[in-house]
Amino acid sequence: KPIVAIVGRPNVGKSTLFNQIGKKRVSIVEDFPGVTRDRIYMDAEWLDKKFTMIDTGGIELESQDTILSSIRVQAQLAIDEADVIVFLTDGRAGVTNADAEIARILRNARKPVILAVNKIDTQKQQMDVYEFYNLGLGDPIPIAAANSLNMGDLLDKVVESFSAIEAIVEDPDEIHIAVIGRPNVGKSSLVNAMLGQDRVIVSNVPGTTRDAIDTHFVKDNIKYTLIDTAGMRRKAKIDEPIERYSVIRSLRAVDRSDVVLMLISAPDGVTEQDKKIAGYAHESGKGCVLVVNKWDLMEKDSKTPLRFTEDLRDELGFLQYAPVIYISALTRQRVHRMPDLVKYVAEQQAMRIQTSVLNQLIMDALSVNPPPAHKGKQLKIYFMTQADVKPPKFIIFVNDPELMHFSYLRFIENKLRESFGFEGTPLKLIVKGRK
Ligand code: GDP
Repeated sequence: KPIVAIVGRPNVGKSTLFNQIGKKRVSIVEDFPGVTRDRIYMDAEWLDKKFTMIDTGGIELESQDTILSSIRVQAQLAIDEADVIVFLTDGRAGVTNADAEIARILRNARKPVILAVNKIDTQKQQMDVYEFYNLGLGDPIPIAAANSLNMGDLLDKVVESFSAIEAIVEDPDEIHIAVIGRPNVGKSSLVNAMLGQDRVIVSNVPGTTRDAIDTHFVKDNIKYTLIDTAGMRRKAKIDEPIERYSVIRSLRAVDRSDVVLMLISAPDGVTEQDKKIAGYAHESGKGCVLVVNKWDLMEKDSKTPLRFTEDLRDELGFLQYAPVIYISALTRQRVHRMPDLVKYVAEQQAMRIQTSVLNQLIMDALSVNPPPAHKGKQLKIYFMTQADVKPPKFIIFVNDPELMHFSYLRFIENKLRESFGFEGTPLKLIVKGRK
């Protein structure tokens, strides 16, 4: 999904515009301490085109920063992270110095910039718009965000600009890995440990217009790609405002991945944000490995991993299928096992089971545990077939889908896993009626 950022100096109406365009706020709560605005982005849609919007107004900078310097940071962040930038100005205030400064930065961005002039509620004010041609960003679009005036024109422009965004073409032979987890969980350390340990062939290919940097390596003739390691390989102290984009970065990495390495810090356990991102990986049908890092910091006895795994299973109930590995990116304990584990999960995800084998499984399952009657009617299962891989998708043909109970589907899923494994991958089970 393309990312659209709204930038502009304070009080031009960014939040109003944001709220007018957005449908529902994405409820990922950030775990950063001291964050007052917890929601900075949301999903939106126009003419069937979906996009994610960032309200850069949600980025509050240190109080000692001047308005101008925070505006520069804001504009730069938008350039770095968004695909399309909406530059919002105030038609009543006219062109200010701060506007000129933002325009100067945005003119150098090699990304589409759409200039909108807000607070133009009357015909008479139309004249105020012409001044904004001076910013050198093309036709200014007059809007009145508070009254939703001309929002359609603005959104048309936004959506039109999406066609300029290059599609990312992935090599299907490579296993794409997204390393995700909250800041300081050890993503950079793990990436560097994986690359160091395996004496890999490393190359950095500047990916796309989005400046995502992927790192490629080969182990045992298998090609792997670590997605968007830009900030990880050369880890400097990343500024807070940039970290606030990390959720969006993570979601985008998940979209492009085959297997997600979900990092959890052993001393801290699972956070709300971990759950949200893991949930997104699950819904997206991605393979998943739960990587518990900083294991070196734990006081251990023989039961520690067992107890930790139990807690993980409780917290992340929907990820029962994900293997758990305990590592230390620092001491490199078990890091060498990561590539094989990723390869294993990728294979599980791509596994295809013959229809005849599946039907034997269904018959056995039915005889052990026939489905209970529902409202006096009996569910009949005719047959099951695998329709897709990555994730494996099964279609179960029945007399009446209404009669299929959730718990019975769960039972069939468990049978599939008992018989074939499918470790690390979600399964999609679809029930279809006759005809
Ligand atoms: P990122 O923000 O997720 O990329 O996290 P980093 O890789 O930058 O790690 C954050 C901090 O945790 C750094 O100080 C690391 O040295 C430390 N760290 C990472 N992995 C481990 C680990 O396995 N054990 C310990 N003790 N510290 C770790």
